[in-house]
Amino acid sequence: MFENLTDRLSRTLQNLRGQGRITEDNVKDTLREIRMALLEADVALPVVRAFVEQVKDKALGEEVTKSLTPGQVLVKIVNDELVKVMGEANEGLDLAAQPPAVIMMAGLQGSGKTTSVGKLARFLKEREKKKVMVVSCDVYRPAAIDQLQTVAAEVGAEFFPSRGDQQPVDIARAALSQAKKSFADVLIVDTAGRLHVDADMMAEIKALHTAIDPVETLFVVDAMTGQDAANTAKAFDEALPLTGVILTKTDGDARGGAALSIRHITGKPIKFLGVGEKSTALEPFHPDRVASRILGMGDVLSLVEEVGRKVDQKEAEKLAKKVMKGQGFTLQDFKDQIEQMNKLGGMGALMDKLPGMGQVPDAVKAQAGDKEMGKLIAIINSMTPQERAFPAVIKGSRKRRIAQGSGTQVQDVNKLLKQFTQMQKMMKKMKGGGMAKMLRGLKGRMGPGGGMPPGGMPPGGFPF
Ligand code: GDP
Ligand code: MG
Repeated sequence: MFENLTDRLSRTLQNLRGQGRITEDNVKDTLREIRMALLEADVALPVVRAFVEQVKDKALGEEVTKSLTPGQVLVKIVNDELVKVMGEANEGLDLAAQPPAVIMMAGLQGSGKTTSVGKLARFLKEREKKKVMVVSCDVYRPAAIDQLQTVAAEVGAEFFPSRGDQQPVDIARAALSQAKKSFADVLIVDTAGRLHVDADMMAEIKALHTAIDPVETLFVVDAMTGQDAANTAKAFDEALPLTGVILTKTDGDARGGAALSIRHITGKPIKFLGVGEKSTALEPFHPDRVASRILGMGDVLSLVEEVGRKVDQKEAEKLAKKVMKGQGFTLQDFKDQIEQMNKLGGMGALMDKLPGMGQVPDAVKAQAGDKEMGKLIAIINSMTPQERAFPAVIKGSRKRRIAQGSGTQVQDVNKLLKQFTQMQKMMKKMKGGGMAKMLRGLKGRMGPGGGMPPGGMPPGGFPF
């Protein structure tokens, strides 16, 4: 998310950083650039106006022009304003209710409601040890009920069955009483969406809301719709009191206009981001961390948390030790690293959070794309243990066999071997190694007194 905005803003602010003195003129230029960047990111106009106005007020105040590092002061002003426009602090779910706490999902068709029910169920189950039941009130598309059942099974949530010939209100009431009987902590109610906001839909969802009186009514909206996301949220909020927003498909959105507009336009907090199709692809929304991402400074904190949760620390340490000792970095290690990375949501999700990734050319990012990773794993899987330990033995006929076994071409195998050799060299040079070092660094930071170099990345960066 935010690639385009990050690009523009960091370039603009970079220019300013180099200047010793800031005059009203170059503040003006910068403000114009910021305004353009926001408009291009599809941020709603009232938000852009308010934003630029605020930054201008502060920038023209004493602090910037008198400062010895005016560029940095301006970066801070923009950063603070970004945080403010997105709502300051993270707002989590408020489930303080007589159990079962009911969460209702609302939103247009295809916005990601059903997927988000699964993600949320998993999140609550794994992180808050809640017993979760889910139910679908989407009676218009029988496939939608089946979809939720599949999702529930995948994440280990209790599924309350419903049918297309029932009334949504009846379904919800029955589910609620079952949830009480089975001592569920949380009941998540999935609802039907339409293509547009329409009167029938609003009437139905209002009735549903009245019947089950949820503690959380979450509006699920597709980030790719940009500022429209804020407008639809507003329309819904007028019909039923929303308590928060889940912004989905942020993995496919390079602009970020929705994230920056929703709070200002609706007054409602974004509580979560959907960052992919998998049930793990849900992140609590932290305005400060997102602001940092937008300014190209990465989101090392979220990364640290994720690494702590998802990466196999023992494996990471084993690898780190091995490389530190100067023992060979093998193709098996290479594969392990790729797999660890996939656990973190793949390269895409990872790169989003690393500082300075804005400067990495798109072509390079694409090369490290998730599909490419899958291919690498397939190729390594087709090798024998001996080949993985001693890649030098991989010559003509072995290459053909490996390519055939992995459904790739010989040139793919060649490419991988070349990449691997480069990486091995880099690992040797860095003595302690990229990813391994990074993982250890991150882990150190989690413990008391642990520290990481500011900026986060190890010198030489990622081994890809
Ligand atoms: P609903 O009609 O609102 O219930 O939407 P669904 O949950 O069925 O999702 C519609 C489509 O969006 C599905 O193909 C999902 O896999 C996809 N989707 C949902 N959330 C995300 C997300 O955060 N990222 C991506 N890339 N796809 C998503
Ligand atoms: Mg659905």
